[in-house]
Amino acid sequence: MKSTIELSIIVPLYNEEESLPELVTWIDRVVKKMQISHEVILVDDGSTDTSWEVIKQLKTQFPKVQGLKFRRNYGKSAALFCGFEVAKGDVVITMDADLQDSPDEIPELYDMIATQEYDMVSGWKQKRYDPISKTVPSKFFNKTARIISGIKLHDFNCGLKAYDKEVVKNIEVYGEMHRYIPMLAKEAGFKKIGEKIVQHQERKYGTTKFGMSRFINGFLDLLSVSFITKFRKKPMHLFGALGTLILMIGFFAVVYLGANKLYYIYHEMRAPLITDNPVFYIALVLMIIGVQLFLAGFLAELVARDSTDRNHYQIDEKI
Ligand code: UDP
Ligand code: MG
Repeated sequence: MKSTIELSIIVPLYNEEESLPELVTWIDRVVKKMQISHEVILVDDGSTDTSWEVIKQLKTQFPKVQGLKFRRNYGKSAALFCGFEVAKGDVVITMDADLQDSPDEIPELYDMIATQEYDMVSGWKQKRYDPISKTVPSKFFNKTARIISGIKLHDFNCGLKAYDKEVVKNIEVYGEMHRYIPMLAKEAGFKKIGEKIVQHQERKYGTTKFGMSRFINGFLDLLSVSFITKFRKKPMHLFGALGTLILMIGFFAVVYLGANKLYYIYHEMRAPLITDNPVFYIALVLMIIGVQLFLAGFLAELVARDSTDRNHYQIDEKI
């Protein structure tokens, strides 16, 4: 069954009252020219300014606008998740509300998805207008994310992204995972992930909504997402392997200690105490850590076994 909406534009926003009228007018101008059916979903992430009033006003002016307001601020990922849930378009495009992303990119992004060339396209702010405190760590993050995920993207966290409907309906963004949506998409089996160089602007109104915590949280989320995408359904493969490795090293250290002692006894020399040998303590610690890792693996397996999506798989086609 073909849905009647061709394009959904989702904009997560938190205290962006000044930018909204300009943004919505601009989006409307661009999409009107494309002559496709569309909807603009503004997700107000619990703004404390007048953003919601502005949205209500805009809805009277632009009938394609839909609004959704959280009772409190949950974060960009939550806003995107809810936007994804209500989106009805065959192609879904997300963009930031602060006018840093240009709506002029919409037609090309739309085509890249609509022609089925890509499942997902991420914007790449090749020339960025952000302070250096943001661009330098971001380079490091992107490089790490590229290595860990094997996805060749330059800019994982660009707010401007386009998706096939199937992608957004089959991934679950939570926490602050919006930075790593390409990795979630890849885990869900969507292979055609591309990128498009996009124009970027300086923030015109207001200030950034992510402080320095973005770097710490971003890094922790990178670890979580890479762990989850690789081992969620088989945690023992990680903990078991590590545990075995460390236990083995510990075990060989013990064998060495024993052999050492026997050597002295065999040659009828006075053997030094095993506890005088630093290897003894290393062996002790290694064996304890090895067993701990093993146990962590078993516990994780128990949790995974009882998780509701233990048998949840992505089915591509059915005939
Ligand atoms: N945003 C949001 N909830 C939040 C923080 C941010 O919906 O808790 C929105 C924000 O309004 C903007 C987008 O996410 O539309 C990107 O935020 P921002 O421009 O502050 O991030 P930066 O460009 O500094 O990475
Ligand atoms: Mg911004």
